[in-house]
Amino acid sequence: SKVKVAINGYGTIGKRVADAVTMQDDMEIIGIAKTRPNYEAFVAHDKGYNVYTLADRVDDMKSAGIPAAGSIDDMIAEADVVVDCTPGGIGEKNKALYEKAGVKAIWQGGEKHELAGCSFNAEANYEEALGRDFVRVVSCNTTGLCRVIYPLDQEYGVKKVRVTLMRRSADPNDVKNGPINAIVPNPIKLPSHHGPDVKSVIPHINIASTAVKLPTTLMHLHTLNIEMEKDCSTEDVKALFAKQPRIRMIGQGIGSTAEIMELGKDMGRPRGDMWENCVWEDSVTMYEGELYFFQAIHQESDVIPENVDAIRAMTELEKDGAKSIAKTNKAMGL
Ligand code: NAD
Repeated sequence: SKVKVAINGYGTIGKRVADAVTMQDDMEIIGIAKTRPNYEAFVAHDKGYNVYTLADRVDDMKSAGIPAAGSIDDMIAEADVVVDCTPGGIGEKNKALYEKAGVKAIWQGGEKHELAGCSFNAEANYEEALGRDFVRVVSCNTTGLCRVIYPLDQEYGVKKVRVTLMRRSADPNDVKNGPINAIVPNPIKLPSHHGPDVKSVIPHINIASTAVKLPTTLMHLHTLNIEMEKDCSTEDVKALFAKQPRIRMIGQGIGSTAEIMELGKDMGRPRGDMWENCVWEDSVTMYEGELYFFQAIHQESDVIPENVDAIRAMTELEKDGAKSIAKTNKAMGL
């Protein structure tokens, strides 16, 4: 029988995890939880998901036209794994609920490492999550960094990473955040916490980061500079990246994040998503013994296949990380 998955918090990340789980043959969605009967709740209902809600809002859901299947507690009682995709900081409050129900739980990058005690990236530390009750899938930026740093470290030994993160200031559906016309160093005090979050997955990596917010909703862009222990050439790095299962080498006249998002739509990806790191092939350069390159990260979707792999590791449906990655990728069309 399939592993039963519940999604608590059906927003940007939650709705994508629900659809990705549905595409797998070894797991299924038994319900999703929304706090309000908005358009996303109606779409979930129309897609055939059982829509659950907060205990005191079940009647509101019903009167709005969604025959709610019950409360979040009811949903959790039915699940083997809950994927908590509530806004950063809220998920922490749900831990007691999951412990009480004896259900496994996955949190997202907005929560602290200590909450789960295991921060996850499928390529870098799949085995660490085997059989675990609690796992945190790291943020979109940390996921993107792990995917390039881990193989470089395995192959050449990473001595030091320096990265500047140019961050989208809001998701496309977000009308509350900004700026809409400024460049914001964030944080101003350096280094930023973003890069060092990689250490929650690969503890020995030496990494420093700076970050700025830009008036765009289309992807994050990283400028990386990496020193390695062993000698390697530009061609070596390009070849290493090209064979990674979740890195896409970008060329063909693509010169911006806007064109990458257009590519995702042209490829017929659900919601135009780009699940892979997008590394500009022509940017990959060894210069005076150090590596430089640009990569773009689709914040709304790069963590989605990682959540699927985390479910598989925690429930031990598959013990081999590379096999899980291949299975997830094939089912999603990645
Ligand atoms: P979101 O705001 O788009 O969605 C959160 C959903 O949870 C909303 O539908 C909200 O109504 C619902 N919710 C709020 N309180 C709830 C509660 N108590 N119980 C059940 N549902 C509740 O947020 P998001 O962007 O999907 O982020 C979710 C998590 O994923 C955060 O930890 C975030 O840091 C992380 N993350 C976000 C991105 C991104 O770029 N959007 C990327 C990677 C990781």
